[in-house]
Amino acid sequence: MPLYDSHLHTPLCNHAKGHPREYAQVALERGLAGICFTDHIPMPQWFDAPWRMRRDQLSEYIDMVAQTQAEYAGRLDIRLGLEADFHPGTERYVADILAVYPWDYVIGSVHYLGAWGFDNPDYQDEYQRRDLGELYTSYYHLVAQAARSGLFDSIGHLDLPKKFGYREPVSFDAHQPSDAVLRALDAIAEQGLSLDYNTAGTRKPVGESYPAPLLVRAAHERGIDFVLGSDAHAPAEVALGFEAVHAHLQQLGAVSVTYKQRRRA
Ligand code: ZN
Ligand code: FE
Ligand code: FE
Ligand code: ZN
Repeated sequence: MPLYDSHLHTPLCNHAKGHPREYAQVALERGLAGICFTDHIPMPQWFDAPWRMRRDQLSEYIDMVAQTQAEYAGRLDIRLGLEADFHPGTERYVADILAVYPWDYVIGSVHYLGAWGFDNPDYQDEYQRRDLGELYTSYYHLVAQAARSGLFDSIGHLDLPKKFGYREPVSFDAHQPSDAVLRALDAIAEQGLSLDYNTAGTRKPVGESYPAPLLVRAAHERGIDFVLGSDAHAPAEVALGFEAVHAHLQQLGAVSVTYKQRRRA
């Protein structure tokens, strides 16, 4: 089955390497049908500025991908989207950026709990000061809000706080997802959003894709579909781990494992 990799970054975010054409080349070599660039969205200047393009670089982003689209026309379907942040108070700014261009696909990701960028390796010591149960509860509460914001097509890396190995504590039944994550999945299902099935976690200390298999099953039971993404920050990472993920989804009987077109009003 021809797959898409729908979560790819570009050097404009300051922490990825390789021109989009290099990502396209690897995608072609690995037999993908298409790819979708979803670089980190510009945000207000006070929010996480070093890790993303500036607003005045948006046209450079669009042009760079358009040029790659032209170079690979007829060989690879290349789409243009964004990985947008959900951070309460920035919704209007994000909505403005989403309105300036007909993006193909927009992922909504929560990377911050308050002022703490919890997926930044430099700040992982903070996990030791937190109650992990409360951490996950507030995180999934934000994810549910993100799902209901109406801004996004999918939710990025659902269980991201596990990145460095700080997993959500299980209360009594290890086979039962927490109420907090189930409420987030309910919101995602209710809003008709997809989940980013993101293999980057396999390259991180946790050593597992986002979301965990138990959550993939719970999502599938709710009729949620999945959009595959490597979250590549370098060309060599394109489609990494896709065989295993694709096999897992087929075994579950989940069908929508390909590209998802942005829903329009
Ligand atoms: Zn990134
Ligand atoms: Fe992310
Ligand atoms: Fe990403
Ligand atoms: Zn990501």
